Amino acid sequence: MNTEELKKQLNEGGKNIVIVTHKNPDGDALGSSLGLCGMLRMAGHNVNIITPNDYPSFLKWLPGEKNVLRYEWSSARCDKKIAAADMIFCLDFNDMSRIEALAEPVINASAQKILIDHHIAPTVDADYIYSDDNMIATAQMVYHFAEKMDMLDCIDRNVATCLYTGILTDSGEFAFPKTSGKTHSVVAALMDRGVDNYAVYQHIYMNFTQSRILLLGKALSNMHIIKDSAALCMTLNQDELDECGFKKGDTEGFVNYGLTIRNINVSCIFIENRSEGIIKVSLRSKGKFSVNEMSRKFFNGGGHLNAAGGQMPTTDMQSVVDIFYRAVEYYKEDILSSND
Ligand code: 5GP
Ligand code: MN
Repeated sequence: MNTEELKKQLNEGGKNIVIVTHKNPDGDALGSSLGLCGMLRMAGHNVNIITPNDYPSFLKWLPGEKNVLRYEWSSARCDKKIAAADMIFCLDFNDMSRIEALAEPVINASAQKILIDHHIAPTVDADYIYSDDNMIATAQMVYHFAEKMDMLDCIDRNVATCLYTGILTDSGEFAFPKTSGKTHSVVAALMDRGVDNYAVYQHIYMNFTQSRILLLGKALSNMHIIKDSAALCMTLNQDELDECGFKKGDTEGFVNYGLTIRNINVSCIFIENRSEGIIKVSLRSKGKFSVNEMSRKFFNGGGHLNAAGGQMPTTDMQSVVDIFYRAVEYYKEDILSSND
């Protein structure tokens, strides 16, 4: 499908549309999905958002959020919506494995599929692909998509608030390298539609649970610094999570604290999930060292150059920390020179 055909269909209205995004939705996954949903509804479509699972409470104020369906809670209802869809938008993921159980019904659906995503090397089979790994956030791409589709008029204050939230969170509050002049001009346009930036900031960054701060203390005190390699890792095992009263989303962003230390170029956190029998891995880097590559090679994962994740099929924390030490040794020279 080319841009003109899609534009024509979207401007006609009346389509059944489903938007899906990745597991453990973050601010960009949900913000871009809700922003697109609001726009498409305004254009006269019937739109549903389906996430694989639930998301943290600090996102449960976003305009339109109350109508989001979770596949883990209502799979039969979601299956019907997916089967009846004319179009399915896949937002903020590059591989069907990122939507887990949702992948099968989405792949089997007869709907036209549209991918909007900023991850490296997408493998999603779609009829229309808008992929750009130079973009800081999928939410920024949704704004550009609206430009391409001639739908800027469908961006009201609520849509703008959702897209702003996606950009704010994925850009590390406009700090990360892929934040561009273009990003700021999109943000300016969104603010002109009435986004209350300080209200958004308070919802996201001044709304933490007490358990999060207790867990942050634990994670920081469990820090292993590999000084001569400019890398460190932190750990949280299930007992520590339980002790502190872990709630979903509590550990989001902890890995970034490692990079605030001078001369540390790679930061990693390992978080046990005993019920799933896994240890979740999050990796961040400064400079040109690719944690995407490190994650692919050592941690069954992937992601971006400077932010990646993965998971290990074990709950033996020491064995995973050992693998990190080996991985750091393997890339030692690249890590040391990453930020030169
Ligand atoms: P986070 O550390 O915030 O969980 O993830 C950072 C980035 O890494 C995400 O934006 C996503 O692109 C990627 N990522 C996280 N977990 C996984 C995973 O298990 N597999 C793959 N392929 N990518 C992941
Ligand atoms: Mn994103």
